[in-house]
Amino acid sequence: MKFNPPTRILMGPGPSDAHPRVLNAMARPLIGHLDPAFVNMMDDVKSMVQKGFITKNNLTFVVSAPGSAGMETCLVNLLEPGDECIICINGVFGGRMVNIAERCGAKVHKVETPWGEVTKVAQVKKALKACPKPKLVALVHAETSTGALQPLEKISDLVHNAGSLLMVDAVTSFCGVPLMVDKWNIDAIYTGTQKCLSAPPGLSPVSFSKRAVKVLENRKTPVQSWFLDLNLVKNYWAGAKRAYHHTAPVSSIYALHEALSLVMEEGLEKRWKRHQEVHKYLKKNLEAMGFSFIVKPANRLPNLNAVQLPKGIKNEAKVRSQLLNDFNIEVGGGLGAFAGKIWRVGIMGESCTYNHVNALTGALKQIL
Ligand SMILES: *Cc1c(COP(=O)(O)O)cnc(C)c1O
Repeated sequence: MKFNPPTRILMGPGPSDAHPRVLNAMARPLIGHLDPAFVNMMDDVKSMVQKGFITKNNLTFVVSAPGSAGMETCLVNLLEPGDECIICINGVFGGRMVNIAERCGAKVHKVETPWGEVTKVAQVKKALKACPKPKLVALVHAETSTGALQPLEKISDLVHNAGSLLMVDAVTSFCGVPLMVDKWNIDAIYTGTQKCLSAPPGLSPVSFSKRAVKVLENRKTPVQSWFLDLNLVKNYWAGAKRAYHHTAPVSSIYALHEALSLVMEEGLEKRWKRHQEVHKYLKKNLEAMGFSFIVKPANRLPNLNAVQLPKGIKNEAKVRSQLLNDFNIEVGGGLGAFAGKIWRVGIMGESCTYNHVNALTGALKQIL
């Protein structure tokens, strides 16, 4: 049996298009995951992930599983049964954090905000009155289900004044919009590879501050998950001292290395700027066709555009399947409360070019 995937133009919520150099990297020969050559390559990956996060955190590495496993890594390591935490929810992914935190046995205080909006400083202040010393406060930096970009700096000050840890989901923001882990004092952060990094899905770069490491070292109970227990995993990313923990997905890490190299060659600031500029062009084109943005301009993510469809389109799913079947273009539908109501147009990493926007706009004009 043969499988030849179609050649698509990926403009949904991820995965995004991969650069040919990234795809070719996966065809390199397999070597052992404890081979000194592989260990050296992993050290390079770690240092490029630190640069991507703009952090000096020593505990920075890549979880061998997708973004959701990065989320789970942060929560299972920092929360113990009976701990209190505050989780801000303004879309699907805040809800997923609550689900995991409750499975850790934590008492979760939810801060809920309507979809499409961002959590306000005053809301966190109020939550800290009800729960003055939570173990952690968690937010989603770029909420992929709604296209909202969460400001973090002021909330970070509040959280640290309360003596708590700040945990952030940066799956869709990493390498697409400004994100500064050390400057913003983020204590636990995770991302994914298939969004603005444009590597294959299935890996999750994470980073922990010294404060978070201290909390980890002072746990009273063992981490519920063996695979994600940082006390064990961290030795696997300890350079020459590496000891067997699990077998790293060798070929995927080749691809990640190549994708990170492309980011370093371009430069983070140029990359952030590219996402802004292509976003402006996409916005102009979509609005001219009658699409309207859900998130107000100040909190709008450039790389994930959540839009309401023009009045004339009665069946959004039909138009999306025409885009896919006739034009090989993938855009995302709505999730949860937004299912059937919106589109999510991703311009992430390699999919963030004027040509991508032209292809989508041209196809839509033809269909409509
Ligand atoms: C995609 C995404 C995730 C989950 O990543 P997976 O790789 O699908 O597990 C988590 N949070 C946000 C904000 C995302 O966009």
